[in-house]
Amino acid sequence: MPIQVLPPQVAAKIAAGEVVERPASVVKESIENAIDAGARSIRIEVRDGGRRLMRIGDDGCGIPAGEVPLAFARHATSKLTQIEDLEHLTTLGFRGEALASIAAVSRVTLVSRVCDPKPTAGQPPSGAAPVTPGTQIQLEGGQQLALGAQGAPPGTTVTIENLFYNVPARLKFLKAPATEAGYVHRVVAAYAMAYPEIRFSLILDQRVALQTSGNGNLYDVLIEVMGLDTARQMVALGEEPAPPAIRVTGYAGLPSLHRAQRDQLVFFVNRRWVQERSLATAVAQAYQTLLPIGRHPVAVVNLFLDPAEVDVNVHPTKSEVKFRNQPAVFAAVQKAVRRCVVSAAGPPQVAIGFRPGVSQPAGDAGHFTGHAEEWRRLSQLGLEAQRTLPGEPGTAVAIPPLRVVGQLAQTYIIAEGPDGLYLVDQHAAHERILYEQLQAGAASQLAAQQLLNPATLELSPAQAAVLEAEAGALARIGFDIEPFGGFTYRLRSIPEILQDSDPAAALSDILADLADQGVPLARRSDERLMVTVCKRAAVKAGRTLAVPEMQALIHRLEQCSAPRTCPHGRPTMVQLSTAQLAREFGRA
Ligand code: ADP
Ligand code: MG
Repeated sequence: MPIQVLPPQVAAKIAAGEVVERPASVVKESIENAIDAGARSIRIEVRDGGRRLMRIGDDGCGIPAGEVPLAFARHATSKLTQIEDLEHLTTLGFRGEALASIAAVSRVTLVSRVCDPKPTAGQPPSGAAPVTPGTQIQLEGGQQLALGAQGAPPGTTVTIENLFYNVPARLKFLKAPATEAGYVHRVVAAYAMAYPEIRFSLILDQRVALQTSGNGNLYDVLIEVMGLDTARQMVALGEEPAPPAIRVTGYAGLPSLHRAQRDQLVFFVNRRWVQERSLATAVAQAYQTLLPIGRHPVAVVNLFLDPAEVDVNVHPTKSEVKFRNQPAVFAAVQKAVRRCVVSAAGPPQVAIGFRPGVSQPAGDAGHFTGHAEEWRRLSQLGLEAQRTLPGEPGTAVAIPPLRVVGQLAQTYIIAEGPDGLYLVDQHAAHERILYEQLQAGAASQLAAQQLLNPATLELSPAQAAVLEAEAGALARIGFDIEPFGGFTYRLRSIPEILQDSDPAAALSDILADLADQGVPLARRSDERLMVTVCKRAAVKAGRTLAVPEMQALIHRLEQCSAPRTCPHGRPTMVQLSTAQLAREFGRA
């Protein structure tokens, strides 16, 4: 066959195939358009799995009458004008392909009316608002059938009928209506979770299949989407104390919650729903040793990062992204989920490897069962109330009263609790204690220790830059510092919790540490500083502690509100339960 340029209609159908794979793709693109239009409420109606009809209505900004036909032209968009715009994209759409693609393979009717019409020049500002009727357009197979004025409420409604009527191959490939409806449900549920402030209704064959309130609370959406039983077993991903360049929010299931399939792992990158294998792997790793083999966790994870760090233009469906710093994103997700799950589910249990001769029930991973037991035990104790309330960041489970037994490797405190042996990391535990002490003090006035002899210190340019940038935060926490010419500074007071340290060395270390962490977000700089100060002030590993010192430390840890993790998110303790010990010794 000689090479020839395809007729536009054929080319359009081929191109449409990339964007519109099945009814759920149409719903996805239309929801994205509604969100981009600033809708507060989106209604999706689907009949016969989307083959017969899909109608997506929104109360967004609408399309001006003159632009309605243009919306259906290929590569016509109001969201981007030059390639550089991709670097700071704030809309979900940008390719200008969806409406053209949908129209190429179905019959589309769009009715739109712009909201809040602004008085045009020349019109008197007073008097009745100008009457702007809506516009209706109808296309079939990409050809315009009708265009005209039409009364309508503000917003846009797109109706898609006879999907793939002219692409028999695609039509054949569609699954049963119930299956296609299931895909649609999944799309709507995902966007409802990504946008809790938008009211979503999904009507499948005239039955309400999903309805969210639009009250802005993700937990309420989780209850609607996953059911109360599942939502109850999920905890909020707490925000990092330090200001991360990659912010991770959302909810993750307790280890007691797991599924045979991976489909309840949902990810949003800058509020875009993405299918990313590496993110799923990161979450799976966060649950390592906590879930039974072959089971998958449940999580809804929101990632926020500088749009310039993400390439969204990878695939026509825009559901794949590329991260500029993939390892950093992976680590951020894994850490955030791990921290939340560990602090909510209790201390990690010591995983004792299987040894011949020690009987272990089949399929019992030991540490996993221990976790479930621990969780049940805490719930009996009425501690469940401490679990995260809807909408709150992850809070932690209290620790039981512990009796100090001794110290191990000058690093870990050995303690006995109601359910076995606990090893407490002295440094991590002390960091947690100091951090909560500082936070409590920050609400009023932090105690500062005046130095009898002001200390003079010479800083590196990087340290001095941090000092200048964080001067306010440093002062609030108790540092009184004055310039002394060049990179030399004079230190008059330090936070009280650093009183046992060499003042100049402590400040120098803290500034160096902050310089290593990069540029902070102003809002979080106090907290980041607190974490750094605590790290410097906390008792180091390698120091021998007397029993009363250890008792005091454990006692203060028991009073912490999140005693199970240090401010960096590492566990403060691991546990070896009595049940595990019994098993190890063949007593079970
Ligand atoms: P894109 O979203 O990539 O810009 P689309 O083909 O999905 O491309 O839409 C083309 C244009 O039509 C959009 O840029 C937008 O201006 C307009 N549009 C589509 N749907 C809506 C809607 N629901 N409300 C307002 N404008 C819309
Ligand atoms: Mg679009």
